[in-house]
Amino acid sequence: MAETTLYEVLGVSKTASDGEIKKSYYKLAKEFHPDKNPQAEDKFKEISFAYEVLSNPEKRETYDRFGLQGLKEGGGAGGGPGFSDMFGDLFGGMFGGPFGGMGGMGGMGGRRGRRKGEDTLHPLRVTLEDLYNGKTSKLQLSKTVICTKCNGSGGKEGAMHRCRTCNGRGVKVTLRQLGPGMVQQMQSVCPDCHGEGEVINEKDKCKDCKGKKVVNQTKILEVNVDKGMRDNQKITFRWEGDQLPDMEPGDVIIVLKQQEHELYTRDGDNLYCTYNLSLTEALCGFQFTLKHLDGRDLLVKSPPGDVIHPGAVKCIKGEGMPTYKSPFDKGELLVKFDITFPPQNFAPEHKLQKLEKLLPPRPKVEIPTGEDVEEVSLVELDDTRGSGHHGGNEAYNEDSDDEGGHGPRVQCAHQ
Ligand SMILES: [Zn+2]
Ligand SMILES: [Zn+2]
Repeated sequence: MAETTLYEVLGVSKTASDGEIKKSYYKLAKEFHPDKNPQAEDKFKEISFAYEVLSNPEKRETYDRFGLQGLKEGGGAGGGPGFSDMFGDLFGGMFGGPFGGMGGMGGMGGRRGRRKGEDTLHPLRVTLEDLYNGKTSKLQLSKTVICTKCNGSGGKEGAMHRCRTCNGRGVKVTLRQLGPGMVQQMQSVCPDCHGEGEVINEKDKCKDCKGKKVVNQTKILEVNVDKGMRDNQKITFRWEGDQLPDMEPGDVIIVLKQQEHELYTRDGDNLYCTYNLSLTEALCGFQFTLKHLDGRDLLVKSPPGDVIHPGAVKCIKGEGMPTYKSPFDKGELLVKFDITFPPQNFAPEHKLQKLEKLLPPRPKVEIPTGEDVEEVSLVELDDTRGSGHHGGNEAYNEDSDDEGGHGPRVQCAHQ
């Protein structure tokens, strides 16, 4: 997006190298230094501010992409205290008002005496891989632009004249008789000038835009999806909306929409996945690979003797998502383990006795005696019978998990 004010302050082009920016800054700073030139204090501040932004690659990039607004929003990142205030002081005057949020851009109107068009939102589907690796997407968009042939006037100079139907007001007033002595007054957009208040003779109309002042254009926007960006994050293309006569064009706002990933879910900069272990692996050690978002296979190993409990969460450091604007910092990859137990009757009784010798001894259970002791049998929970008590069954399952002492881990599973 072409925001060039800061470049103009330093008298350099948008593509100027760091060296050129520095050179021009020194020259101007010398010329307007308050010691030499006390009246030029404001000018000197402007030059210093422009240099502060353009000499810093990160701020320069933010400015190129999001303009002054972007700098103000990201002001906390590197601007330090006072950055925004200074910004407001310096540029508030230049632009005729404080910089507001998305809707507050009407302030810009003060500068040119124009209203701002509506912003257009475009969703952009991205994968978790795109957000991990970064990606450039080309987005084709059709918009109206001011006709270059007539410069948006619709025809030859002076060819426009006031609409006679509405007398230049753009609205047509019709009276409708509702009954004796009752008249309803109705206002509608003037059909002859389409509400513009002025018309142009057929023969004087611009050939390119047919008097409409605007023509349709297809434009390709290059959307940089940066590493670490999030679902629903917005990328703003300033003034790329429809151009209309006497109106500041609105912004085109790309909204990232992340598709669900089959293996990983994301929370902040952390990645989560669930891995299924057999009971044998959980007790006797294991190794497996996880396909990462950049295509690497992460080899995960656990030695025999490290017992993994059902629902246990282990952390792989630095293998989470890259941090936005600081992609070398990464979050963690958290792996939650589910354990699959062996099927019913997986071994005959004499073999189970051998297995029991390997396992920790049974806890002592005191069985009371007497006629109050009644033996009952355990049966499978009948799904068909419990149809009216579905919630009850689920609660039962959760309870049993909690008793295992893995409450917090189970919560991770629900993330
Ligand atoms: Zn035209
Ligand atoms: Zn009219």
